[in-house]
Amino acid sequence: MRTVKAHGAVNETDPLVPLTIERRDAGPHDVVIAIDYAGICHSDIHTIRGDWGPVAFPQVVGHEIVGHVVEVGAAVTRHRVGDIVGVGCQSNSCGVCAQCRQGHDQYCLRGNTQTYGSVDADGTITQGGYSQAIVTREDYVVAIPAGLDPAKAAPLLCAGITTYSPLRHWAAGPGTRVGVVGMGGLGHMGVKLAAALGADVTVLSRGTRKRDDALAFGARAYVDTTDPAALAGATGSLDLIINTVSAGLDIATYLGLLDVDGALVNVGAPAEPFTVPAFSLIPARRTLAGSTTGGIAEIEEMLAFCAERGIHPETELVAADAINDAWARVLSSEVRYRFVIDTHTL
Ligand code: NAP
Ligand code: ZN
Repeated sequence: MRTVKAHGAVNETDPLVPLTIERRDAGPHDVVIAIDYAGICHSDIHTIRGDWGPVAFPQVVGHEIVGHVVEVGAAVTRHRVGDIVGVGCQSNSCGVCAQCRQGHDQYCLRGNTQTYGSVDADGTITQGGYSQAIVTREDYVVAIPAGLDPAKAAPLLCAGITTYSPLRHWAAGPGTRVGVVGMGGLGHMGVKLAAALGADVTVLSRGTRKRDDALAFGARAYVDTTDPAALAGATGSLDLIINTVSAGLDIATYLGLLDVDGALVNVGAPAEPFTVPAFSLIPARRTLAGSTTGGIAEIEEMLAFCAERGIHPETELVAADAINDAWARVLSSEVRYRFVIDTHTL
């Protein structure tokens, strides 16, 4: 057992505070990672604020983790001391169910172990990346390709893969008209990845503050969603919409932007349910779907794609004492476009 410094929550409402947490000794298949960078995902905030149900406190969040290997268990073959590696949202799964056997461990039928807030094999609650070190099974640790800047790679482990996976599953590419709703951490990666895959990208965002950035990230069109005429002008114009909005949304309006056979894939995870009128789907054979993160093999594929194409998130590095301020700026949609904690400052 080792004790490491972290920043975490002691209840649903108060600011995060410095904490110390225990990490297990490395088992035969474990990798001990000294964390260098941890991204701040809106899911961290939903979790602590109780949007998705009760949480066991104290809780350290963070599932966009990049660091370097400092120790490996006796049977580890995938990683070596000194390697630059990452850990994303999942840290374990059953490995034998139909989904795990296909490499879709994010859809493990027995329920996978999340990097934070899950009951671990030893009965403890998993604690995430806003900390100095983590101990993770080697199969759930991915190598960060040499072509990626470690300080910018962390958000790829959630924001990157959560948008890449549905873009690939719904075959975004040349000739596909893709809309990305909400341009925060996930949304801006969705724009960059969809554009790199060759799709024709439209950003749908509130106001015009993000218009120039959207076009710089590869979008060909921009719709100000606070302008009813602009929204109406986009009716039936998209094949695939990725909704990344963290709050409730009038989903029927966005379904109306799909052409016949179009799909709206929801990855945003607000506490409030959507209202879906039957006739927002029926007359154009539309699909409303959801998607979560991606499997380990797909994360590796996405990292290689980003390294090869020079794709990286837009990040702002923050020190530990600025995490609470960063959370406030995520909640007010002021983030441009992902905060990354320099965990050396913990
Ligand atoms: P984020 O950086 O805060 O971005 C969310 C964006 O949603 C904002 O930039 C804003 O876009 C829009 N938005 C926020 N409040 C809104 C409101 N009241 N009305 C309309 N639009 C609003 O968050 P994120 O880290 O990208 O995460 C986005 C969502 O995805 C969260 O709910 C998160 O929990 C979820 N998530 C899901 C998965 C998954 O596996 N499915 C993985 C990670 C995250 P504009 O300012 O451009 O309008
Ligand atoms: Zn996340």
